[in-house]
Amino acid sequence: MKRNVLIIGAGGVAHVAAHKCAQNNILLGDIHIASRTLEKCQSIINSIKAKGSQRGAGLLQAHQLDALDIEATKALIRSTNSQIVINVGSPFLNMSIMTACIETGAAYLDTAIHEDPGKVCEAPPWYGNYEWKRSEDCRQAGVTAILGVGFDPGVVNAYGRFAMDTYFDKVESIDIIDINAGSHSRYFATNFDPEINFREFTSTVWSWEQGQWKANAMFERRQDWDMPVVGKNTTYLTGHDELHSMSRNLGIPNIRFWMGFGEHYINVFTVLKNLGLLSEQPVRTAEGLEVVPLKVVKAVLPDPASLAPDYTGKTCIGDLVKGKKNGKPQEVLIYNICDHKESYNEVGSQAISYTAGVPVVAAAMLIANGSWDVGHMANVEELDPAPFIDLMNRMGLVTRIRDAQGDRVLHPQHESVVSANARKRSPQVAANHYPKGEHKLPKNNAYVKSALR
Ligand code: NDP
Repeated sequence: MKRNVLIIGAGGVAHVAAHKCAQNNILLGDIHIASRTLEKCQSIINSIKAKGSQRGAGLLQAHQLDALDIEATKALIRSTNSQIVINVGSPFLNMSIMTACIETGAAYLDTAIHEDPGKVCEAPPWYGNYEWKRSEDCRQAGVTAILGVGFDPGVVNAYGRFAMDTYFDKVESIDIIDINAGSHSRYFATNFDPEINFREFTSTVWSWEQGQWKANAMFERRQDWDMPVVGKNTTYLTGHDELHSMSRNLGIPNIRFWMGFGEHYINVFTVLKNLGLLSEQPVRTAEGLEVVPLKVVKAVLPDPASLAPDYTGKTCIGDLVKGKKNGKPQEVLIYNICDHKESYNEVGSQAISYTAGVPVVAAAMLIANGSWDVGHMANVEELDPAPFIDLMNRMGLVTRIRDAQGDRVLHPQHESVVSANARKRSPQVAANHYPKGEHKLPKNNAYVKSALR
């Protein structure tokens, strides 16, 4: 059993993670929020108090921290007795925070791959450039480090693994499809950190095709999908974190990531890029001021968290998996629908932050109860997906499946073949199966109850 959580970062995802930790603090213990700007941590605490999210007794404290300072981070982990660190700060912080965890023994979780401020779209596999280099150190220290456990990356990795174990003898392809069919009232905004958002698209798009890496330009390959609830949408092939681990860990020949973009986003992006305003490389102004154009663009765009009050509509993110079962072609779509307004009503955030913040807390809870406290570094598809999907069903992110039998809520424990197949593929994973009913979880909100019916 591990207890006491240190959340690092105080942006949109941290806001959701802090609310969800507070809702589950009977299991998780004390909650500490640390970030560069103390006021933002305090404002999250005020929001938790205003919403009455905290269920049990325990500390709820704000701290100022520069998480690039490894010694300061180690000192805070120790002084707060935190055994679980949730890194939902900027992706530039990953390796510093991971080092602090390895050196203090705290479990480490994040929701995005590490980035070097001076580089974009590095050579694949991206995890090999940074995180996986510390894999042996985690194993030797017995430190659990779960990488990329937001929605995408994160939940979509678990969906891929669950589909492969449960519904297929052989998987040919996984297409991860991410649609935000919501609308905010701003001229232009990104749904999470603009700097990170743009960095995903400014250079080569990597995808995994026919068992090897394939490079494309952004917006070069377009695909229309008819998705549940949100309907017909246009997406474009995009490079994304999860491809860089799933390609290694699942042995599936084709794994692609498709993100929905409207014409307006593409126009603004194209103008900014062609003007050089999305560059991560510094430029010098006539006055001798050195600035990074991308950081200036971030500074003038809306803070993604500020979009929440006016956001309406839904997101639909899922895995379309194709392959063979008993010699016959098989296709399943495993997905989640998240409503911007429902997210705002529950925790004061929009759905993009919500879909990233809930999974990382579910993973922290699985570390706290031992199910995912594996004592080494793991990407999400290497862990048993059943307890994760099951727990999220009860925390506000309900998983659904659409296949030849129709469209229904996916309850992992009702899928009769899962345990047999999982055991065949990975005895360790099957042995670690989630003990049903172990947690005393808070009562779910009305949306979750109705979605589970
Ligand atoms: P924000 O930019 O809103 O928040 C980042 C936070 O990190 C800010 O509070 C910032 O502080 C803090 N920070 C930056 N540098 C430091 C530092 N040196 N020391 C301490 N704190 C620091 O991002 P989001 O909340 O939107 O996203 C958080 C993470 O989640 C990102 O890595 C993002 O890529 C990831 N994400 C993952 C998703 C998924 O599904 N997997 C989806 C969406 C996001 P300050 O407030 O002072 O700027």
